[in-house]
Amino acid sequence: MELTALAGNAQIKAQLAHREGDLAHAYIVAGPAGSGRHTLAAQMAAALVCSAQPQLRPCGRCSHCRKAAGGIHPDITVIAGSGGKPITVDQVRALRTDAYVRPNEAERKVYLLERADRMNASAQNAMLKLLEDGPAYAVFFLLAENGSALLPTVRSRCETLELAPVSPAQAEEWLAKAFPGRTAEKIRRAALECQGILGRAAALLEGGQEEDGLEETARSLSAALEGEDELALFEATQALDKLSREELTAVLDRTLIQIGARLPGSQRPRRLLAAAELLRRLRDGADLNANPGQVAGWLCAGMFLRS
Ligand SMILES: [Zn+2]
Repeated sequence: MELTALAGNAQIKAQLAHREGDLAHAYIVAGPAGSGRHTLAAQMAAALVCSAQPQLRPCGRCSHCRKAAGGIHPDITVIAGSGGKPITVDQVRALRTDAYVRPNEAERKVYLLERADRMNASAQNAMLKLLEDGPAYAVFFLLAENGSALLPTVRSRCETLELAPVSPAQAEEWLAKAFPGRTAEKIRRAALECQGILGRAAALLEGGQEEDGLEETARSLSAALEGEDELALFEATQALDKLSREELTAVLDRTLIQIGARLPGSQRPRRLLAAAELLRRLRDGADLNANPGQVAGWLCAGMFLRS
């Protein structure tokens, strides 16, 4: 099974390797919040409905995979208790009725049960009947922070996938791909601070997203202003078009700072100085009444006419 979306966890990957045609009909996916339970269950659910050759599932391209990724596959159902409460026995009974209706589009029908370890004994017992003699096409994923909190009778009918914390190096590699706009320094810090739980690292990095986005725009703009590639400059200025006025002013200020930092080692100091002067003029204009689209156009034209 194709599980590259899940970081680390070599043990689970080995456990599921070459099992495409031989998956269990019920899994307990256990691990702390942010450890990848949803990533793993979602990948497996997609693999179960995917129409590609078994060893390529989930292919990520077929209509089943695309619907699964969009959360709209009719044969994948997520069940959660309402208002943060545990799943009730009534919800399990409704699930059971639904499970006996054949799949709509795929070969299988998949159910993901959120926080299954918090279901009370009667809800778990109602689930038990389904685990014992449910229809062959149905597959259940019981998501749990603490797998051992489930009844032994439920546990004995499921295969358990226990998510392990990932190493700082694995976290760093995964985060660098997931957050391409962040500096290596920020990625490394988040990888060290998350204690192997990628969800925590992602939350740390998402917190500073807007700030980082502006910094990144300023960085690519200053690089494009220094270079002589007109297309690159045009593309860099296009990013300004999407900004609000406040963001535009902030980006122009940061670009000026970036240009100051580039000057000492630059091969084209005159070009940078001219860009800085233009930026200052436009910044004053941006303060007054120009909109981001106009400023982007003026910046491009100012530099093109020069070269
Ligand atoms: Zn597919």
